[in-house]
Amino acid sequence: MLMEEARRAVVRYGCLLLEKKLTQGTAGNVSAFDPATGLLAISPSGIPYEATRPEDVVICDIDGNVVEGDRKPSSELGLHAALYRVRPDFGGIVHAHSMYATTLACMREPLRPLHFALLSAGEGEVPLADYATFGTAELANAAARAIGQMNAVLLQNHGILAAGKDIAKAFQVLEDCEWCAEVQWRCMCAGKMAVLDADQLADAARMYRGYGQKK
Ligand SMILES: [Zn+2]
Repeated sequence: MLMEEARRAVVRYGCLLLEKKLTQGTAGNVSAFDPATGLLAISPSGIPYEATRPEDVVICDIDGNVVEGDRKPSSELGLHAALYRVRPDFGGIVHAHSMYATTLACMREPLRPLHFALLSAGEGEVPLADYATFGTAELANAAARAIGQMNAVLLQNHGILAAGKDIAKAFQVLEDCEWCAEVQWRCMCAGKMAVLDADQLADAARMYRGYGQKK
């Protein structure tokens, strides 16, 4: 079986999406990309996360052709592939309809740098991709155009896509974005919001890069 470890990670983080209430039902999808082979492992379409087994995960090439697997790949395969194409540094992607990120996406508001927790998504605001119907090439192109050097992008009236060097990192970016989206939504409800300015963000980014245990 190709990409066994990636298949297990797709299953594990799919279940975590549900456990942590970051998505509803079978909404959302998870993938891993291996630049060495050009293959990606992605959630199957419409199978409940808790019922998905590693052998249900579909292996595709970057053009969307199924290379291994009996299942139909996620309807957002094109979205994942488009992001791996524009950002070769990505090895994992998580797409979800988490409550607060989706709320901002429906307000057509980007996720603004109010708090340093957003730095896992990059130094700046998480942009909004132009609206396009879910599951289409237009949506894939809009997200690929919008993401720039950030590690996440909001999909108007849809949800969020978070990415990183692997699925674990992408999942952390998603959790950080969701927390920051709730903070922003609360600020908007209260009618007052102070965004970090460029110097404050640059100083916080410097601290963020040095944060944690030395390798
Ligand atoms: Zn979706």
